Amino acid sequence: MTPTDEAHDLLSRLGVRAEGYLTSLSPIDGRPIGSVAEAGPNDVAETCERAHAAFLAWRLVPAPRRGELVRLLGEELRAAKEPLARLVTLEAGKIVQEGLGEVQEMIDICDYAVGLSRQLYGLTIASERPSHRMMEQWHPLGVVGVISAFNFPVAVWAWNAALALVCGDPVIWKPSEKTPLTAAAVMAIVGRALHRFGDAPDGLLACLQGGREVGEALVDHPRVALVSATGSTAMGRSVGPRVAARFGRSLLELGGNNAMIVAPSADLGLAERAILFSAAGTAGQRCTTLRRLIVHESVADTLVVRLRTLFGKIRIGDPREPQTLVGPLIDEGAFEAMRRACPEVERVAAVDGGFYVRPAIVEVDAQQGKMLQETFAPVLYVVRYRDFDEAIALNNAVVQGLSSSIFTNDLKEAERFLSAAGSDCGIANVNIGPSGAEIGGAFGGEKETGGGRESGSDSWRAYMRRATNTINYSDELPLAQGITFDP
Ligand code: NAD
Repeated sequence: MTPTDEAHDLLSRLGVRAEGYLTSLSPIDGRPIGSVAEAGPNDVAETCERAHAAFLAWRLVPAPRRGELVRLLGEELRAAKEPLARLVTLEAGKIVQEGLGEVQEMIDICDYAVGLSRQLYGLTIASERPSHRMMEQWHPLGVVGVISAFNFPVAVWAWNAALALVCGDPVIWKPSEKTPLTAAAVMAIVGRALHRFGDAPDGLLACLQGGREVGEALVDHPRVALVSATGSTAMGRSVGPRVAARFGRSLLELGGNNAMIVAPSADLGLAERAILFSAAGTAGQRCTTLRRLIVHESVADTLVVRLRTLFGKIRIGDPREPQTLVGPLIDEGAFEAMRRACPEVERVAAVDGGFYVRPAIVEVDAQQGKMLQETFAPVLYVVRYRDFDEAIALNNAVVQGLSSSIFTNDLKEAERFLSAAGSDCGIANVNIGPSGAEIGGAFGGEKETGGGRESGSDSWRAYMRRATNTINYSDELPLAQGITFDP
């Protein structure tokens, strides 16, 4: 079946009516697979007002009841897992396993958020004043605007929406203009969950399709209390200051340039497998993709030879084929970016109209030039090191700070890598690759990656506002710091 026919079939199975002028092209063959209606300038303001009205009601719904909506969403996602995953494959070019994995991540975060809906804890704090009690409460924040990238076309929305919903916040989603159909499909699934839930306020979950201008209008709207934006650092550089200018909150999940250190004691067999998935998987189009390999000079020759053999065997092709490990790049722009970074890139003739490449290994003498930038394609730079301090310095010597890892069997090296003087990234792993995070941990990175944290741990706090309360149950009015103020 052509991607176009298959998309038609999947959209009808998912209950999506897709029509409009924003056309989606499948990276598999570069042909249109459907289109959706684009939001106009008035739509943004209207949607924000409706979402704010929804907020006034939703914030009063008990959090465990809000969790019930997320539980139903999780059920609907389970029911739609296979067709939605296949649509991800058609629209983002991910192999079937990764499409399924992405939808599983949506289901996992729903389960996580349901439990969280009974755990939005504040603290009780000892007051210095007699017969006083201090405490912290976490209240719903307001409308959350979610801007997402093409490479995780559905999971990023779910990470944000599942948490925002239990935290009492409506969500307006501006998906990538490259993946509008999967977004429309998610909204159809949302519609079914809302229907079963029954009494959710109108405008609680909305989607505005379109490009950068729609994103900008959302970013500037005063009703949007939190802008959670996932994408390139260039996008974040525009979004961050705009939101800050109106004193809104932003949560930025931007580009990465992730490294792995392979130490002399490393289990090279394990390291190889981790490198293969982290560097070549998803055709190098993950924010956590391994892009820089920092290898000890004593093992570099052996490792590079083995990697070249492995990379040569990777099956590249139509991501719908079960044997394929690497599907297409998203579009010609991505291919051109890869060619600029690596002129010797080998284009693979897999399906006409698609941009298929063989993941590349580029050995360099020093970490400089293109290696310091994120090229969103499968190019793995390899640089050698002599001593461990140098390796850590190389790991940290880029402007991005998302993910990192080390392969070592030396306990001291592992601990130093994880210490305050070690990796400066938001994610630092030992004996696993830098890509493929679990939802239980906080996800995000430092420096030009934007500093935001999503998903597990206490990331939910970004979607709420904190109130500190002091309660006096005495008959006196003592002031803090012993101040007296009597007439
Ligand atoms: P992109 O920056 O081109 O677009 C991302 C989204 O931002 C799209 O929805 C786009 O329409 C919107 N946008 C672009 N400019 C905007 C602006 N000025 N104002 C408001 N909205 C704007 O990114 P992409 O090519 O879709 O995705 C790849 C990039 O995303 C890579 O850099 C990758 O590392 C990053 N990414 C980061 C994470 C993370 O969690 N850190 C996750 C996935 C992707």
